[in-house]
Amino acid sequence: MNFEDLKLAPAIVQAVQEQGYTAPTPIQEQAIPAVLAGHDLLAGAQTGTGKTAGFTLPMLHRLSESAAAPAKGAPRPIRALVLAPTRELAAQVEESVRAYGKHLKLKSTVIFGGVGMNPQIERIKKGIDILVATPGRLLDLAGQGHVDLSAVEILVLDEADRMLDMGFIHDVKKVLALLPEQKQSLLFSATFSDDIRALAASLLKNPLSIQV
Ligand code: AMP
Repeated sequence: MNFEDLKLAPAIVQAVQEQGYTAPTPIQEQAIPAVLAGHDLLAGAQTGTGKTAGFTLPMLHRLSESAAAPAKGAPRPIRALVLAPTRELAAQVEESVRAYGKHLKLKSTVIFGGVGMNPQIERIKKGIDILVATPGRLLDLAGQGHVDLSAVEILVLDEADRMLDMGFIHDVKKVLALLPEQKQSLLFSATFSDDIRALAASLLKNPLSIQV
């Protein structure tokens, strides 16, 4: 199988080829068609399996297919949210979003704690389509009215098990409460504890389960 067979937009396939990838990894072969078809997803995948592209590529495809048309003068809404447990992972995911979306017109940014808020607020104000965030900083900025999550169409919880291990369950739940009911949700986790299963059960609607 190659990336064209997955029916990704040519601009995305081109970016993937420029990364030097020749064939999708097993998680990508399973996740990409499921996400393109609009399913919620419960994915068991370790880091190093290519999981980031597994959710990023179809997310970019879906966002690029249905361009949001904000009312004239209205700010560009945030259409996709990726939650990650650490600043390192969040930064890495956003780098991937940029690399795979380089031929698209979608804008992304990353926010995490431990650094000043103002540059992050300024970037968000300019209007972005895809936000990658750690839960605590996201809640701070949302609480201050700088982040509106009411138009999110796609949610990704990346490394959900680590997010829970780090004690973020309450923050994650508070973030989920800011999202619209109707959305596509993808949960990636290396392990599946009872807590992860409970989170998945409360968030995902008729999810497809994949495991690599
Ligand atoms: P991840 O599991 O998402 O952290 O990805 C692990 C590494 O695999 C990253 O360095 C990616 O750039 C790389 N990668 C992802 N997809 C592919 C692919 N289809 N072919 C080759 N390398 C890939």
